[in-house]
Amino acid sequence: MQRNNKEVADFYNSPAWKKTRKAYKLYRMNLCERCNGIGYYVHHKKYITANNVHDSNITLNFENLELLCKYCHNKEHFEQELGYEFDEDGQLRPPIEG
Ligand SMILES: [Zn+2]
Ligand SMILES: [Zn+2]
Repeated sequence: MQRNNKEVADFYNSPAWKKTRKAYKLYRMNLCERCNGIGYYVHHKKYITANNVHDSNITLNFENLELLCKYCHNKEHFEQELGYEFDEDGQLRPPIEG
């Protein structure tokens, strides 16, 4: 499990992801796709796990991305109650905050 977490964490630290995240934020003009607030997290609709972390069709595909503000992102993960999540610096954080 720990190894899997590391693979996912490595992905979030990868130059490919950082580049894609930046491009996607620009593409969405930094607006949250759900409430038009300030976009902060580039969320994966299909959550990244150790099973798909090497599949760029999922990890780097705009079709699988969604730009969300902090509020909508927390709400998403609170409702789902699963999945890995990492902050902007690639630090693992709990899916549920607050
Ligand atoms: Zn929002
Ligand atoms: Zn997310």
